[in-house]
Amino acid sequence: MNQFMKREGECHSCGECCQTVNITVVKDVTLQQHGNLEELQRYLSYRGINLVGSNEKRNELYYSMDIPCTELMPDKRCRVHDTEEKPLICNRFPESKEGIEDIKNCGFRFTPILPRYP
Ligand code: SF4
Ligand code: SF4
Repeated sequence: MNQFMKREGECHSCGECCQTVNITVVKDVTLQQHGNLEELQRYLSYRGINLVGSNEKRNELYYSMDIPCTELMPDKRCRVHDTEEKPLICNRFPESKEGIEDIKNCGFRFTPILPRYP
């Protein structure tokens, strides 16, 4: 069954989603370049890049770098919130439950939309 999710809740400015840079790369091409997963992890670790997940079906690998955003203020609010300077991806966040899997305190949550029968 195709299950659609509804986003509920709101941002309470915890700043957790502003702490890292997250990048998606093509898995088979990347592993071909590096030889194998172990080699890739060694290469990334020398640069402070973490391999945090993968998706076989989508042929993707996920990287994360511990680089906090410069627009995150000491009180954890976003300096560019409600301005045209705020990146699109930040305005859309979170788009799926996977996006907040590692952020337990996010103010958003996703719940399945149950199909309605007449
Ligand atoms: S993790 Fe959720 S609650 Fe925290 S700043 Fe990001 S969107 Fe807001
Ligand atoms: S621009 Fe704002 S919302 Fe986006 S990562 Fe930076 S502080 Fe967070």
